[in-house]
Amino acid sequence: MRRPFFGGNWKMNTTRAEAAELGRAVARDAFSGVDVAVFPPFVWLNAVGDALAGSPVALGAQDCSQHQNGAHTGEVSASMLAELGVAAVLVGHSERRHDVGEPDDLVRAKLAAVLDAGLTGVLCIGETLEQREAGQTDAVNERQLRSALDGLPGAAADRLVIAYEPVWAIGTGRTASPADAQAAHAAARGVIAGVLGGGAADAMRIIYGGSMKAANAAALLAEPDVDGGLVGGASLAAADFAEITRSAATANA
Ligand code: PEP
Repeated sequence: MRRPFFGGNWKMNTTRAEAAELGRAVARDAFSGVDVAVFPPFVWLNAVGDALAGSPVALGAQDCSQHQNGAHTGEVSASMLAELGVAAVLVGHSERRHDVGEPDDLVRAKLAAVLDAGLTGVLCIGETLEQREAGQTDAVNERQLRSALDGLPGAAADRLVIAYEPVWAIGTGRTASPADAQAAHAAARGVIAGVLGGGAADAMRIIYGGSMKAANAAALLAEPDVDGGLVGGASLAAADFAEITRSAATANA
């Protein structure tokens, strides 16, 4: 039985005061039987870390550099994030792959940097609408997974979470059907088994992202290979985010 993982990706939202208040509100919520992390903007990590102190909610970052240090203006390294109390980092989010143009090899280097720093990596994969309509969903996920995971030390696999996030579902209000999500997750787990072995694949959390909300979370989480959620818009309201996490219990009841 995999313990569900839920991440709240705040993207480039919140003022400092709003972020601290949202962090305090998430920290006040009761989470049972699930791992929870929030991913505020870099500049509010300190404030949100303070707000989360003493709670089981982990502090996450939305990205990091592939480099450890040096002449990389504007970049933030995984070890700097670790020093701030960050426990998990998103890697390869579609808004970075597609808006910023991060290629597979950069995503791979960033994931390696996160894992080398002892942090949990949340590796995001997923197809565009055009790719889905061309029947390329599994092939795209396989390419992104193989590129990021090939050569990964087996010991790092337990600090890895995969987020399947169909690009056409992110921030659009369109959600993958539970059956489509399950099919993509099962195919991804098969690829992971081929790369890292069946034991690592069985243990790995593969979470769904893309317009997840309280109204659709239970049906998605009822699928056997859907092990939690990466939540964008709905994570900006603590009550909505908490309700989504509670859907995991309903789904598994
Ligand atoms: C995300 O940011 O990863 C995401 C899934 O966003 P949303 O829930 O808003 O679609």
